[in-house]
Amino acid sequence: MNYDCPETLPISRNEFSQIHIFKNIQFEQLAGFLLKCSVKYFDNGETILSPASRQKAVYILISGLLQMTVESEKGGTFSLAVEPGQCVGEMSVLDNTTPCATIIAKEKSKILYIPADTVLSMVRFSHELCLNFLLMLSQRLRRDNIIVCEEQHHIRCIEENAKIDPMTGLHNRRWLEDMYTREINRSNIGHFKLVAFMLDIDHFKQVNDTYGHLAGDLVLISVAQTLIRSLRPSDMPVRYGGEEFSIFLPGATDEQAKIVASRIRNNIENMSVTLNDGTILQVTVSIGYAERIDNDTVESLIERADKALYYAKENGRNCVSKNCGGGKFELLR
Ligand code: GH3
Ligand code: MG
Ligand code: MG
Repeated sequence: MNYDCPETLPISRNEFSQIHIFKNIQFEQLAGFLLKCSVKYFDNGETILSPASRQKAVYILISGLLQMTVESEKGGTFSLAVEPGQCVGEMSVLDNTTPCATIIAKEKSKILYIPADTVLSMVRFSHELCLNFLLMLSQRLRRDNIIVCEEQHHIRCIEENAKIDPMTGLHNRRWLEDMYTREINRSNIGHFKLVAFMLDIDHFKQVNDTYGHLAGDLVLISVAQTLIRSLRPSDMPVRYGGEEFSIFLPGATDEQAKIVASRIRNNIENMSVTLNDGTILQVTVSIGYAERIDNDTVESLIERADKALYYAKENGRNCVSKNCGGGKFELLR
């Protein structure tokens, strides 16, 4: 038989040589099987294969372009281009299940259609074809692993960003909920020391009212930078909201807490913010702190620090106050 005759075989020798799964296989070897295949044409936008398709077959793109889209039950999708020489549909032939992707022609496409039973006969007949299928599936698995890893990395970045206050770069309340809870649980179990600070800028409304909201924002950014500069890397500063900040100091003794609080108060008092018109702004902060006691929660510890903060506010501002428990407070400059 003349296997190059287009009337008898669906594809030419040249088209055969471009098909990835036929690599290293002689055209003549598979010609008998090709007689059982057919060529189909699809217009741009036509669906070739979908999870609803009943017919199982391998579709090899001879010319044109296809788009493969996989959709998860929760609505996540990803799409990939299928180029000439590549095939689709082989997974549902091999594992005898419905296709998990939708394949649509993105331009007029010529496809070699190989019915499922012919694919399986070809695989049984040719070890080379079998190896080519394995190679293709391995490459897909490798590619999909990379896609999944990149996707997870992307999701992690989004989640991380959602926990950062964009203006000051400090973590926000969402981060606090996770990390402070983890820290207090760890400290409760190990009976480790832990100190919580609550810090509030004094008369901040006046800064906004006098110099404008943008000037207020610059002050907030500077305060955040001064906080970071005044802390150890293991300390956990958070923009609690507005012009209030909280800090967890894992492992800090009362003596260390006093030193750190005084350092922050002092550094902020000595900090100055220069506006575009040359105006120099200075602010002060009040700080309240409390030490962890057994069975504290994030809320109960912060609440005690917050009471100390109000005590500092009531007692002149620009100072540090410790909640000693039992309604007693210690005031420090
Ligand atoms: P006190 O010493 O008692 O804390 O007085 P205060 O003026 O600092 O406190 P008050 O609660 O009256 O005002 C806080 C101000 O902080 C009001 C609010 O507009 C301002 N503020 C909160 N968030 C932001 C922000 O992101 N940017 C700016 N510029 N201002 C903010
Ligand atoms: Mg304030
Ligand atoms: Mg406030």
